[in-house]
Amino acid sequence: MKIAIIGGGAAGFFAALTCASYHPDYQIVILEKTTKLLSKVKVSGGGRCNVTHACFNRFELVKYYPRGEKFLKSAFSQFMPQDMLEWLAKQGVKTKTEADGRVFPVSDDSQTIIDCFMNQAQNRHIQIRTQAEVTQIVPQANQKIQIQINHQTNQTYDRVIVTTGGAPKPSGWTWLADLGHTIVPPVPSLFTFNMPQNPIKDLMGVATQANVKVVNTKLNETAPLLITHWGMSGPAVLRTSAWGARVLADLNYQFVVRIHWLPQLTPAEVGQQLADLKTQNSKKILNENFNLPKRLWEFLLDKANINPEKRWNELAKVELNRLNEILINDRYAVNGKTTFKEEFVTCGGVSLGNVNPETMQSKVVPNLYFAGEVLDIDGVTGGFNFQAAWTTAFIAGQLKT
Ligand SMILES: Cc1cc2nc3c(=O)[nH]c(=O)nc-3n(C[C@H](O)[C@H](O)[C@H](O)COP(=O)(O)OP(=O)(O)OC[C@H]3O[C@@H](n4cnc5c(N)ncnc54)[C@H](O)[C@@H]3O)c2cc1C
Repeated sequence: MKIAIIGGGAAGFFAALTCASYHPDYQIVILEKTTKLLSKVKVSGGGRCNVTHACFNRFELVKYYPRGEKFLKSAFSQFMPQDMLEWLAKQGVKTKTEADGRVFPVSDDSQTIIDCFMNQAQNRHIQIRTQAEVTQIVPQANQKIQIQINHQTNQTYDRVIVTTGGAPKPSGWTWLADLGHTIVPPVPSLFTFNMPQNPIKDLMGVATQANVKVVNTKLNETAPLLITHWGMSGPAVLRTSAWGARVLADLNYQFVVRIHWLPQLTPAEVGQQLADLKTQNSKKILNENFNLPKRLWEFLLDKANINPEKRWNELAKVELNRLNEILINDRYAVNGKTTFKEEFVTCGGVSLGNVNPETMQSKVVPNLYFAGEVLDIDGVTGGFNFQAAWTTAFIAGQLKT
């Protein structure tokens, strides 16, 4: 059997290694269009490679995927994060789990994962060709698959696994659409919010727990928020961007966010807290102590047009109301997005309705399989995107029919 794997990224390598271990006698080739292999693994997790997430219940795990939840419920029953950790341990790669559940190699170096994959590929005699872009796939009458490389050479394979990753432009998908697959239009996911000219940017580096709501949508996340020199980032924003990837693209990344700066309190409790401070802290000046980072608190006082040198008992009712409003209903216009440097992915891709989750085989073209980000699956940050790649590649690599 001759097997071609199109794409030398995370999913391509893991599919090839799985295939080689299930079918040691098959001839396997990885075809990569660029000169670089595993290039996203290299830069992933800020160079540390957040290889998976320590979530060991598949019903919990699927909740981290804005696209693909139902499909993955079935796929994860075959390969979970603990399976990947065991696989890595077997190859001698030691991993560690950070407090938030993200798993990294102990070396804190993505090269450890790359070296592991490259060594395994060599040991298993997997052929690797770079600068080999697959430009066309032509299913044959005998159920073999002919692929065209670099618009020139044609080669025929018994099975083909497509692991070409995400592509932001619709033009990157025509060759798969031409075969009859439905392509869910690609848009970016995992980005941060730009707030040009907004003075909040002066608070760059400030982080606090907050509730972020995109006005006039259902998007609503409570998590740490980070102020950056271009606007807002942090888990609250990244999760909003992931769950809202399509809605926010439709808004052309122009929208208003409402921030509740004390999300642990209801609006009524915030009002009560301010009233209590006015009576209990009456002699204290406002900017002395509050349950928020000092720079942020001063910024919000300024935004409410309140002198931070005032004492609590000097606050007029109207000022207290303004402060209350800003704490629970603070608004910022977002104008554009910036890709999160640690991780970004494509929302959209080959429709999951075209793929059998038990095998990853195309329902449209026999003997053609998919794995990784080329599928309409994406997760939030934290190692979930790699895990989807490992799981789908593990299933595809077995070449079940
Ligand atoms: C900066 C950054 C950091 C990230 N960090 C993390 C992280 O720490 N943890 C995490 O879980 N996720 C992370 N991700 C997401 C993760 O990298 C992807 O989800 C994952 O790499 C997808 O794997 P893949 O093999 O499907 O696609 P890719 O890794 O994109 O690989 C696809 C490969 O196919 C090749 N290719 C494309 N078209 C063709 C063609 N026609 N012919 C031949 N070859 C082709 C491409 O050149 C590429 O090498 C990060 C992403 C980015 C951009």
